[in-house]
Amino acid sequence: MSIQKCDRCAAQYKFLHCKLICHNCGARLDCSDLFIDWERVQKTRQDKEKKQREQP
Ligand SMILES: [Zn+2]
Repeated sequence: MSIQKCDRCAAQYKFLHCKLICHNCGARLDCSDLFIDWERVQKTRQDKEKKQREQP
């Protein structure tokens, strides 16, 4: 399992009970979000950024 980093500031999330919390910017993920495929999320984000770059 890879270390999960914050979407906003790239700080490392900390596990707190059933949540992931970024103590740097306050972003958090709930339990249900922990079961997402993190690599897929990152790939989706990269694809989105790529599309944005391709647009005029
Ligand atoms: Zn953060």
